[in-house]
Amino acid sequence: MSLLAGKMGIVFGVANKRSIAWAIAQAWHSAGAKLAFTYQGQRLKENVEELAGAFGPDTLILPCDVTKDDEIAAVFKTVGDKFGKLNLLLHAVAFAPKDALEGEFVNTSREAFRIAHDVSAYSLVALARAAAPLMLDGGSIVAMSYYGAEKVVPHYNVMGVAKASLEASTRYLAYDLGPKKIRVNCISAGPVNTLAARGIGGFNEMLKHYEAHAPLKRNVLPEELGATGLFLVSDGAAAITGQVLYVDCGYQIMGM
Ligand code: NAP
Repeated sequence: MSLLAGKMGIVFGVANKRSIAWAIAQAWHSAGAKLAFTYQGQRLKENVEELAGAFGPDTLILPCDVTKDDEIAAVFKTVGDKFGKLNLLLHAVAFAPKDALEGEFVNTSREAFRIAHDVSAYSLVALARAAAPLMLDGGSIVAMSYYGAEKVVPHYNVMGVAKASLEASTRYLAYDLGPKKIRVNCISAGPVNTLAARGIGGFNEMLKHYEAHAPLKRNVLPEELGATGLFLVSDGAAAITGQVLYVDCGYQIMGM
């Protein structure tokens, strides 16, 4: 089944093989999409080259710190030159200074608040704006969120506030880009053991808590996020935009 045959996509946020971005990229690639990848800084270059290289030697792999407008412009210039168009974009990027994810939210510094929102929320706006002119026959943008956007999750702190901004940005982008047949949605994933997740205080307790309390009595698997990522960019989701889709083994419905 080649749901995405002939589609061109770009993936932001692969750090290593545990990354949610990698699970979704694999699903998109298996469905026939041709993908470009970005990495932040030299440290991750090798990882991304090793993983994405498996998709063929000519896979586009480009540097991009999403807080840098010139790097974003360079990425989309290259993608435009090489692909000629774009159909899919995955935003799986987030960051907050570590001390902001440990103590009390009330102590969040102005700088930690700014950084968390710049990297984790504003970047979606910047990437969508740069991608839209290349989405000539419409497109689909997917961003990764978490339940801490909606409810208080201890330790998630400023990242929850940034995810709320990401989800609201998704709705406003969906409104602006809808007439261009570009859909914008979020996947709100249950906890997955990744590099970014390990920066959140008490993350192992979070995994145990979900296992005990989610209706399905387990945690979500990366390949399940890949499958949802594929669904959201496929024609099966053609009338879905501006939504936050919970992929968390049902945890979000629980009141107690
Ligand atoms: P991950 O593998 O660590 O991926 C996070 C990525 O964001 C890394 O590649 C990281 O690069 C990148 N990044 C951070 N700052 C950046 C910047 N300024 N420019 C470009 N890239 C930058 O962790 P993940 O868990 O898969 O995270 C992917 C997304 O899923 C995030 O939005 C996260 O909030 C979301 N999410 C995760 C979970 C979970 O439990 N894991 C649950 C719900 C939602 P560096 O390593 O260089 O910083």
